[in-house]
Amino acid sequence: MDNSVLVENDVARPEAKTSVKATTAAPVLQVRNLEVTYYTDAGRAKALDDVSFTMPAGQKMGMVGESGSGKSTLALAMMRMIKEPGRIEQGEVVVDGTDLISLNEEDMRRARLSKIAYIPQGAMNSLNPVMRIGAQMVDAVQSHLPNEKAAAINERCMHSLASVDLDPKVFRMYPHELSGGMKQRVCIAIGILLHPQVIIADEPTSALDVVTQRQVMETIDRVQAKINAAVILIGHDMGLMAQFVDRVAVMYAGRLVEVSSVREMFTDPKHPYAQALISSLPNLENKGVFQGIPGLAPSLLRLPSGCAFHPRCSKVMDICKTKRPEATILPGDRSVMCHLFDGEA
Ligand code: SF4
Repeated sequence: MDNSVLVENDVARPEAKTSVKATTAAPVLQVRNLEVTYYTDAGRAKALDDVSFTMPAGQKMGMVGESGSGKSTLALAMMRMIKEPGRIEQGEVVVDGTDLISLNEEDMRRARLSKIAYIPQGAMNSLNPVMRIGAQMVDAVQSHLPNEKAAAINERCMHSLASVDLDPKVFRMYPHELSGGMKQRVCIAIGILLHPQVIIADEPTSALDVVTQRQVMETIDRVQAKINAAVILIGHDMGLMAQFVDRVAVMYAGRLVEVSSVREMFTDPKHPYAQALISSLPNLENKGVFQGIPGLAPSLLRLPSGCAFHPRCSKVMDICKTKRPEATILPGDRSVMCHLFDGEA
């Protein structure tokens, strides 16, 4: 989503959600030490670097960061959809006790949609224009449940459409007969057909107008509450995220530099990059004037030494230029990768 949408949507800094679900529940998702490298002619680019986090069922986490920070790579790695010249070098993605990375191809194909669903960026444009919505939904179910009776499949599809507030007649319609928001809701309906425990939605509201964005987010909210899935929302729009997620994870140069509850992230961000992201949001004090973050995101082919954020950081210290910070766990189940917090665990 471009910044103009963000500005339009956030003339005043939004109130972050106050009710944050407890993070002490048993995790349904555990990502451990996930690492992805792209081997290009220009060199090796580490797109995901030792990424670890956990989520309990029913939690929504917003994944934010500039373009190229690794958000979409993380989603693709979790789905085992990284293509050559990329490679998952190491790590685990454990959903409800099953490590997806160690599954064979056939078991992983079954796990997609049934354990973990991915609603890719621009999903609404990936609907087949010459097939009715119903046929596309039925295909998705049949590829996972080949023995399910036609009546049961139809009922499952209708139930899924109802969950996203779409009229049953959408089942018989073609994509071109639907608005952008309706198509995006169809994609969500397909994503939840098999009640996955984890749903990843990559920029689910991009290319939608502000009112439709909110409707789509409310749909995700409702659906998530119904099937109690852990939901990862990838996006740029911190303002929209603030109103819908429980936790926020900030990515920079392939690393998760801060993970905090949404309230803490908006009221007391710890990592200097997270602080810069929050203060770049228009608010009533700065009268909606957009403040950028100095410098550019680094090329993954030539990452700065030490902390990759150090050339842009207003709090840089000598150690930052030579030593890479590791994650420090702070009270309140927060984690931050910054030398300012070394020894504060
Ligand atoms: Fe800034 Fe140093 Fe922290 Fe990196 S480690 S964010 S350069 S203070």
